[in-house]
Amino acid sequence: MIAMLRSSGMDVGGGEEGGEEGADAGGAPAVGEGEQPQQEQQQQHGLTSLTPLPRHMQVLIETPGAQPTAGGAGGADGGGTPAPTAALEEPRLEDARLATFIERLPKAELHVHIEGTLEPDLMMALSARNGVALPYADVAAAAAAREHFNNLQEFLDCYHAGMAVLLKRQDYYELTDAYLARAAAEGVRHAEIFFVPQGHTARGVTWADFFPGLAEAVEGAEARHGLTAALIMCFMRDLGPEAAMQTLEEALPYRSQILGVGLESAERGFPPGPFQAVFERAATLGWKRVAHAGEEGGPENDAQLVSHLEATQVPLTVCPLSNLCLQVYSGCLEERLRELAVGTRLALTVNSDDPAYLGGYVCANYAYLARVAGLGPRHLARLAASSFQASFLDPAAKQGHVEAVHQALDAWLHEERVPTGASCRAEGGRAAGAALPAPAAPACALE
Ligand SMILES: [Zn+2]
Repeated sequence: MIAMLRSSGMDVGGGEEGGEEGADAGGAPAVGEGEQPQQEQQQQHGLTSLTPLPRHMQVLIETPGAQPTAGGAGGADGGGTPAPTAALEEPRLEDARLATFIERLPKAELHVHIEGTLEPDLMMALSARNGVALPYADVAAAAAAREHFNNLQEFLDCYHAGMAVLLKRQDYYELTDAYLARAAAEGVRHAEIFFVPQGHTARGVTWADFFPGLAEAVEGAEARHGLTAALIMCFMRDLGPEAAMQTLEEALPYRSQILGVGLESAERGFPPGPFQAVFERAATLGWKRVAHAGEEGGPENDAQLVSHLEATQVPLTVCPLSNLCLQVYSGCLEERLRELAVGTRLALTVNSDDPAYLGGYVCANYAYLARVAGLGPRHLARLAASSFQASFLDPAAKQGHVEAVHQALDAWLHEERVPTGASCRAEGGRAAGAALPAPAAPACALE
């Protein structure tokens, strides 16, 4: 559920996950192991977190597909180890312009829990439709209950109350389709979405009840909303490896509709090691592997681990607003995020985690990070490019999306140089780009 990143100096869950894909069919989750199979670009996901989080939540930061050796997810140019973003000196954009630019940037979302996208209005509608009582008088009251969480448990209570209304195939379809519509409106072109089977089966909702609804929405994403999407099922650490293996077996009839597996939930007391066999089995089935790690467990301030993540470019899926809302980091979160974004060579991606509960969707997360870390258009474009590089898309698709990021940045920079262009964008409207001459040469340099 929460995602976080762990970064610099922070802990990354030791040995947490990793999943490399590929070759080794096994691979236990070990964070970053470096061998990546050479031929299939493997993707690894790394997780990180910023700080020890309270129990039950872990934040994971997953990171999808990194390409460790090749060039680095962080570097859109595909060249070696990416330079620290600190090298980019850009003026800060005021909020309205920043928001416009972020929305226009093509992005991939790699860390979002579909159950965490249940908005108060849909939750209340499903409550009425399914006859599931909730402790809220109306939508406004349900929304108010999400405004502030004093601790993890409050969030979990609210989150689980919401999930209780999800019972039938149509409920899951509507939930997923609503997320996809929102994501598309925010410039997301590709989404790798987590779902947690045990959160549904534990309530008596069967795979046949929930999975077809999720899958139908994902399969219709491109036609209905213009983005591609895929599903990653997460196992709950606190339910143990046997339950995870059982869940994996239950998923087999839907194997072709599932991109990969993940690990989430409480870390403290539930290390990743016992899940090795489950991950190995997943690998033999051709599933990608990711994991939340390092949020509430794992090494603290492990510089060696950070260096390893920089060297291997294992992507990290960071969810800044989730960290903020859940108060998972005991120090100054803003400072830590800034260090992470501008002081390291980590392959970062920005994501929303549980956006209906934790501060907003992907654009709000980019905007928050941009504000606290002082990021300008090139930095933001680099993060967007990194999100595609870190995805499980095939190389050609990644390249196409990264080129689109470059084009969006070029167009923006070009507009910025045209005085009249600036005025057209002023009130939050979209710039009349078509009226502007095309840039003479690519101005886009993500590095
Ligand atoms: Zn998460």
